[in-house]
Parts: sequence; C-alpha cells; structure tokens
Amino acid sequence: MTQQSCQWGYDSDNGPEHWHKYYPIAKGDNQSPIEINSKEVHYEPSLLPWFVGYDPVGARTIVNNGRTCKVVFDDTFNRSVLRNGPLPGIYRLRQLHFHWGSSNDHGSEHIVDGMKYAGELHLVHWYSKYSNYADKVNRLHDIGYFINSSTKLNSLLSKLSVSISVIKDISVYLFKGKEAPFSNFDPSILFPKSWDYWTYHGSFTEPPVMSMAKLRSLSINADTEPARPMVDNWRPPQPRHFRMVRASFQ
Ligand SMILES: [Zn+2]
Repeated sequence: MTQQSCQWGYDSDNGPEHWHKYYPIAKGDNQSPIEINSKEVHYEPSLLPWFVGYDPVGARTIVNNGRTCKVVFDDTFNRSVLRNGPLPGIYRLRQLHFHWGSSNDHGSEHIVDGMKYAGELHLVHWYSKYSNYADKVNRLHDIGYFINSSTKLNSLLSKLSVSISVIKDISVYLFKGKEAPFSNFDPSILFPKSWDYWTYHGSFTEPPVMSMAKLRSLSINADTEPARPMVDNWRPPQPRHFRMVRASFQ
C-alpha cells in the first residue's frame, strides 16, 4: 500500500470525494452504498434464506484503525462461514465493523425510503473458492444491518456492548492503532430476528461496539496526538445506475 493510500478517511481533505484518486474503482458503476426505495425493489421468490455458522473461538482481535472499530476473525479455513442466500458458494467471515454518525439522526451508509439510521454494521466475507482475502477483494460479500437507537435493532448494539465490555475495557482500543485480543464472540448474536434481506451488486464501502455514545468516544488520533472524535465514518449513497435491488420477501 502506498503512503497516499494509507491516508484515506472521512475528512474534507481525504473523504469519499477523494478516494478515487487513490482507488480509481471508487468511481466505478457498481458502488455502494445506495439509496433503496422499498417500492422499487424486485421480490424474487427464488432467493434462498441465508445461513451462517460462526465459530466463537475464531474471533481474534478488536482494532481501532483510525476509521472504524473492527473485529477480526480467523479466516485460514472454513471456520466461520456464510452460505446460501444469493451466494454461489461458501464465504468466510473476515471482519466486522461499524459506521456511525455524530448524532442519532444519521450514520448509516444505506438509506431506505429517505430514512437514515444511527449506524450500520457490516460483516465482511470472502468467497472461499479463492485462495485468500487480499487477492479477491472483488469477491466479497457484505452483510449490512442498520442500527437504530429508537427501534428493536438497538438490541443489536446492547448485545455487542455486553459482549465487548465483558471481555475488554474500551480504553484499550480508544485510540488509533490500538488493538486488543478478542475471543469467544459469535457475531450472529447481533442479528435481528428476521433474516429477510435485500441484495444488490455493490462494492465495499471503504477503499479495499457498544452504545452509540461509546462508539463516538473512540478517537481517530493516536494517543500522542490532539484529540479528534471518531464520528461520521460513512460514505454517502452512490448512483444506482441500472442495478436492481432484489428482495427475499414481499
Ligand atoms: Zn463498512
């Protein structure tokens, strides 16, 4: 990775408007996130339910990389996997991370019927048919969930909050560059009851947890630098072009 490409972020001088300078693909046709209009989605009865099998022992570390809070998993074999749904094979869980805003009225990357949510959780998987994650960034499958401080989806965050606080003090990864061991964590506890989904052909929303307040208490600075809170680490919606959003439900 070049020094330049390490500098992408969410500020006015290195934010989403600038990513294409380091990653030309960021101007491609199939970019994520998008705005979803629930009246325009196409119900497809043939879309299978999806299935996950996550091994809690496969959780490895929790990292503050200066852009998000990320939990990394062991993906050296088919240990924690996602399959079925719209997928052609078995996908391995690589990491999960969050996007959030500076207040509860925004922070999600996808927008549904004009509604922005307080945050969005992404679980990143890669197609195990390929040899590793790094070579095949185009073969990723992202599961995304909205985090809304005022709905039952909030239980998602409180569950994670409990899981994380039991294991590690948040101060361990408060600052950029900090990471801490993280184990015995099954991310499927974060999933809502309904596994209905929308799916479309998109991209990673970044170039290749806890209450919202806790997330906002993370810093994008290293512990030796002036304090800057980590907030608004979301990419705005990208053009949908002619892509269809398919639904597994009516
Ligand atoms: Zn993401």
